Amino acid sequence: MKTRYRISALCFDKQGICISQGENAYTKSHPIQKYFAEKVGRPHNIYLHAEIHAILRAKDRQIEYINIYRYNTIGHAELAKPCPICIEAMIAFGIKTVNYTTKNGWVYGKTPQELKDEYSKSK
Ligand SMILES: [Zn+2]
Repeated sequence: MKTRYRISALCFDKQGICISQGENAYTKSHPIQKYFAEKVGRPHNIYLHAEIHAILRAKDRQIEYINIYRYNTIGHAELAKPCPICIEAMIAFGIKTVNYTTKNGWVYGKTPQELKDEYSKSK
């Protein structure tokens, strides 16, 4: 069995107000998650990711940026870089900026398109 860990995502509007929060799930799915998983060729990834969970909870409010983070049990940041499925969803929902934690702290100010390009280059 894979190690389970908690990733959280927060969506903010243009004014910097937090409009929604999401967490990754291991038992819950959603048609939107499935849709983007299939779109990027990962159809087995049907369980809700924190980013998509947060995007769904923002309803029709425009998301300006999203913060994704993961801390281990002793409070150190761990990698929470969004996967290609979530990046595809962020592009579709018009999210401008992505910030996420790594082992070395936060990475700020990437656009979903930049992250997508990073993945396609590393293939
Ligand atoms: Zn994801």
